[in-house]
Amino acid sequence: MAEAAQVIVIGGGLAGCECAWQLAERGIRVELHEQKPQQRTAAQTTDGLAELVCSNSLRSDNPLNTIGLLHEDLRLAGSLLLALADAHRVPAGDALAVDRDQFSAAVECAIREHPNITVISGEVTEMPLARGVPIVVATGPLTSDALARQVVALTGQERLAFFDAIAPIVSDESIDYDKVFAASRWGKGETDDYLNCPMDKPQYLAFIDALLTAEYLPLQDFEKGVQYFQGCQPVEVIAASGPKSLRFGPMKPTGLDDPKTGRWAYAIVQLRAENRHKTAWNLVGFQTKMRQADQRRVLGLIPGLEHAEFLRYGSVHRNTFLDSPRLLDAAMRLKSCPQLRFAGQMTGVEGYVESTASGLWVGLALAAELAGRELPLPPETTAWGALLHHVIDDSVPEFQPSNVHWGMMPALDAVDGAKKRNKGERKAAHLERARIARDAWLAAWLPGKTA
Ligand SMILES: Cc1cc2nc3c(=O)[nH]c(=O)nc-3n(C[C@H](O)[C@H](O)[C@H](O)COP(=O)(O)OP(=O)(O)OC[C@H]3O[C@@H](n4cnc5c(N)ncnc54)[C@H](O)[C@@H]3O)c2cc1C
Repeated sequence: MAEAAQVIVIGGGLAGCECAWQLAERGIRVELHEQKPQQRTAAQTTDGLAELVCSNSLRSDNPLNTIGLLHEDLRLAGSLLLALADAHRVPAGDALAVDRDQFSAAVECAIREHPNITVISGEVTEMPLARGVPIVVATGPLTSDALARQVVALTGQERLAFFDAIAPIVSDESIDYDKVFAASRWGKGETDDYLNCPMDKPQYLAFIDALLTAEYLPLQDFEKGVQYFQGCQPVEVIAASGPKSLRFGPMKPTGLDDPKTGRWAYAIVQLRAENRHKTAWNLVGFQTKMRQADQRRVLGLIPGLEHAEFLRYGSVHRNTFLDSPRLLDAAMRLKSCPQLRFAGQMTGVEGYVESTASGLWVGLALAAELAGRELPLPPETTAWGALLHHVIDDSVPEFQPSNVHWGMMPALDAVDGAKKRNKGERKAAHLERARIARDAWLAAWLPGKTA
């Protein structure tokens, strides 16, 4: 008779497969539950494990981009999925694109043939807490309804979201500080919690016109008929309800004295610090389905953002994710029920590579825990560490999922004139700092895996 599993992983997507394999490689018996082939999510079209549901690209492989640096981190830390992506790479310039069928088949083979992994098909509808072993939930952005209800019962209704409402983020260096002013509404809170971009009436009307005539991404079939929560409506939906609606909504100027005029502007776009380092700023209330080129053009009309560098574009999709900063600890354990932990897109990372990175971390951290050790998070100055720290950064009041980007990392030292560098020099400096920190962490905690 097979020995009992020591860990249960739910979800055979990117995070679940990476996590299960890392555990199994360290001698831990894993039961991996995947609802396919009996049931698929609305985005899936195959029955394989680790399905790439849309693009076949894992984005740029150039380490001067944060995602390329994350590839490098994952390769060096021993990621199964990155190794198999490399093995099934197809030509795509500097992007890491893969033959999706070969990639999925290779992951399936590695998982099914691993002596420490048992794959069990079928939807998990009850959280198997009574089994008394650690459970990793990695059921992704389209987690089945029954399991989502179980998660809600454990976390509370308001802590699991079913839609994201992602506002664009711009880098601090790219904001024109001559045009914006720091102030909190009615002087409440810290003065520099918000930057304000003031508009006069002609600027506001031109902006609304550009917004209403921009191009938008269509809804997926399974997103149609959605009722947006008040406060999460896309900015274009609010704008379409009347020419002044934004001025009475997210662009409300009241309580914000412009130091240049001593008065309130006609309308204001507020930027809120995206992290405690204030290296990146979020356009408050500007969640949008606008195409990315139009986001650059239309949002570039906002005074102070004419030359904005977009670290993350706005979006709105169906997505199941936790309010992780309030719920999870560094090992991605549910603080109120540490037997349970989460990996992948459910934790609020966004994208194939980021979900793999999350699965890798959870697998390694749990394996260390079962061996009686604690693994510290990779440093925040690395791409992998910055992403994981972002997930648990409770200084951000309204958590939204995110791809990895430079703005998640601490600022380059002010003393070395970081603000004066151009974008290319900043990226090179981030890369150098990240590699040094990453290699030191690998040498200390995953010996044998250094560059
Ligand atoms: C429509 C759409 C398009 C996307 N396009 C892209 C893109 O182009 N590029 C990109 O980088 N990212 C894209 N993403 C995001 C990407 O799919 C996710 O980041 C990534 O797949 C998440 O990995 P994961 O392992 O967390 O979840 P998934 O890869 O979704 O894996 C979760 C697995 O859990 C299974 N499951 C769910 N519920 C249960 C249950 N109750 N019991 C057992 N099994 C269950 C599912 O069948 C699935 O196999 C897209 C997402 C969607 C929805």
